[in-house]
Amino acid sequence: MTDNIKSIGVFTSGGDAPGMNAAVRAVVRTAIYYGKKVYGIHRGYEGMIDGEIEEMTSGSVSGIIHRGGTILKTARSPRFMTQEGRAEAYQQLKKHDINGIVALGGDGTFKGALQFNSEFDIPFIGIPCTIDNDLFGTDFTIGYDTAINTAMEAIDKIRDTAAAHNRLFFVEVMGRDAGFIAMRAGISTGAEAILIPESKLSIDQLIDKLEKGWERQKTSCIVVVAEGDEEGGAFQVAEKVKQRFNYYDTRVSVIGHIQRGGNPSCQDRVLASRLGFAAVEALMQGRRNEMVGVLHRDLSYTPFEKAAKHHLEVSPYLMMLQEILST
Ligand code: ATP
Repeated sequence: MTDNIKSIGVFTSGGDAPGMNAAVRAVVRTAIYYGKKVYGIHRGYEGMIDGEIEEMTSGSVSGIIHRGGTILKTARSPRFMTQEGRAEAYQQLKKHDINGIVALGGDGTFKGALQFNSEFDIPFIGIPCTIDNDLFGTDFTIGYDTAINTAMEAIDKIRDTAAAHNRLFFVEVMGRDAGFIAMRAGISTGAEAILIPESKLSIDQLIDKLEKGWERQKTSCIVVVAEGDEEGGAFQVAEKVKQRFNYYDTRVSVIGHIQRGGNPSCQDRVLASRLGFAAVEALMQGRRNEMVGVLHRDLSYTPFEKAAKHHLEVSPYLMMLQEILST
């Protein structure tokens, strides 16, 4: 297939995730290696509409592989949800002769790309960037590994203080729709219980578990709660438990936005480098409307329809394993 790509645009969109910079760097350097022009589009679809587009050089992405956040900034764009907004974005891309786009983001970003593509003829390739790891079509998303390590380190510290005071801690981690962060952070820290949207552990069952731990004279207890659990966040769950189980001194800790920031882990940097490289090559191969990912160690290409429609859920195997190991 002939390579028709002359100029590539790259942008970051939706929630930020550590490793986005490493992916932008890989896109820019790969495009330059293949003799393409490459443009950075600032603030996601919002900047695309406003023409915040500038040519990038190899030097533009120096010294960023280890930095969290995104040098291109990110934004949510209600205007891109409208036909007028997308038409404006198209005009801006045409102005720069951009005829291939690499989009870094999550399922919303890919839905936007699909909509745009049904109206205008510029191919998009997506790179999965979200700390939640819930995208269909890739074993891991960029940012997830860093986020779980941040959560794990925080919970290790909480465990130290919990054990010193014989305390029960409810620790809230990110994950509105998915419990991947909670599950890995919980397993890796030996949490006594994990509450995630995918499992229906009731307050009764949780109290039962905590009572068993108390009988075995555990000196501390950690309950990891994903923010989207059906019983509520850590504060709500702690309140419900305290009314009926008050043997331990109880505390709540919400880890919060530190899970989004920080230097990306080795795994995220390498994944980002691989996928940035693959995204440019995919455009050159004439691919469009697909997300590049890694499945069973190999590169994979998943149509945006599928990546946006299907949500991954924590495996029942991991839930069972956690259950057994925490008793
Ligand atoms: P995260 O998983 O971190 O939330 P995301 O990519 O899913 O990342 P969203 O805010 O859902 O983040 O989507 C990013 C942007 O994509 C939106 O602000 C909007 O501009 C655009 N977008 C999402 N869905 C559509 C759609 N159906 N049509 C047009 N644009 C869309």
